[in-house]
Amino acid sequence: MIDHQSSWATDDVRMFRTMVRQFIQREFLPHQARWRQQHRPDGDAWTAAGRAGLLLADVPEEYGGGGGTFAHEAVVLEELARAGVDFASSIQTIVARYILAYGTEHQKRRWLPPMAAGGLVGAIAMSEPGAGSDLQGIKTIARRDGDHYVINGSKTFITNGCNAGLVCAAVKTDMTATPMRGISLIVIETTKLPGYQVGGSLEKVGLQAQDTCELFFDDVRVPVDHLLGGVEGRGFAQMMEQLPYERLTVAVSAVANAERAVAITTAHAKERRAFGKSLIDFQNTRFKLAECATEARIGRVFLDHCIERFIAGELEDLTTAMAKYWLTDSECRIVDECVQLHGGYGYMTEYPIARMWTDSRVHRIYAGTNEIMKEVIGLSL
Ligand SMILES: Cc1cc2nc3c(=O)[nH]c(=O)nc-3n(C[C@H](O)[C@H](O)[C@H](O)COP(=O)(O)OP(=O)(O)OC[C@H]3O[C@@H](n4cnc5c(N)ncnc54)[C@H](O)[C@@H]3O)c2cc1C
Repeated sequence: MIDHQSSWATDDVRMFRTMVRQFIQREFLPHQARWRQQHRPDGDAWTAAGRAGLLLADVPEEYGGGGGTFAHEAVVLEELARAGVDFASSIQTIVARYILAYGTEHQKRRWLPPMAAGGLVGAIAMSEPGAGSDLQGIKTIARRDGDHYVINGSKTFITNGCNAGLVCAAVKTDMTATPMRGISLIVIETTKLPGYQVGGSLEKVGLQAQDTCELFFDDVRVPVDHLLGGVEGRGFAQMMEQLPYERLTVAVSAVANAERAVAITTAHAKERRAFGKSLIDFQNTRFKLAECATEARIGRVFLDHCIERFIAGELEDLTTAMAKYWLTDSECRIVDECVQLHGGYGYMTEYPIARMWTDSRVHRIYAGTNEIMKEVIGLSL
């Protein structure tokens, strides 16, 4: 691993990192093969993570969170990436952020403490079979009926979908309004909820241990006070406000993965021999690794700048879009080169670099595709 001290890593954050690293090594790493086979983490992994303080690390303590900053959240993401563990605690935080930003005091006190403890797993359900990038095109509808909304429709590609007891869903509450003004966010408590159905785990090329599902809503009744923000029609604006946070979390994982790829490939190149010498003794290997290490370092410096600015409340959405696009493209370039430097072993799932190759690919797709990021950047020019 390239030794680099991030400016945002205070003593408190460093201590937190040590604890998180030990927890992941002890509690998560030994179960990775089973998680991958069952396509989801064990249910009790969530409560263990909650007890250890890995969940909602940057949510205020009064709501059960860790009371930290985004630095603490970044540490959790980096340590998961460095250990090669798929665990979508970031989605838990993202759902919590919507509740924190737009929830009433009652909603915050009802949902955030059990989410921090891991007894309640959250999912964010925006994408549908017919609408991903174009969120204005969603078709899931919530019709008001007395004190309830009646929800019909479906969502796809939902991370934490199978384990989720709480789904923050984007729905149409007004079919006559412009698409931007017709969308609302409604929080759905899914346990024993009539009409709510979870599809089987979707077969993915990577992130095998991550729980990704379709969700179906057939006349699902949700109390009207589960609307986020108190007024219908604010959902699209709320998503646009919160998506940059999600994009920053993806950028954090991307840089950690790029650094890990360089580290494990360097170790492999020192150990593996061909033509009577170590792979690292070939100039091409050294040069390729030098290029990858340099690109990873550039990424780290840019990311650290973004994290510092985010903690200070000064990170613009535009820079976040740049970070999400460039750092995930860079991650994929580096990981692909590192697969090549591993030779045939780089194609074997037993080797971490092979899994990183399939796992990292989605970083360019979710949380807003990199093409959408370029649209955001391009439109601002
Ligand atoms: C593993 C995984 C986990 C996910 N988790 C979640 C989740 O938890 N919650 C959730 O709501 N969603 C989730 N998603 C969905 C994800 O956010 C979408 O897949 C993504 O936003 C892209 O939408 P789409 O798949 O419909 O592709 P499309 O929108 O159909 O895009 C297809 C292609 O067209 C390009 N394109 C589309 N519009 C434009 C444009 N205006 N300009 C230029 N190019 C364009 C895209 O960049 C892409 O290359 C997940 C997806 C995956 C694969």
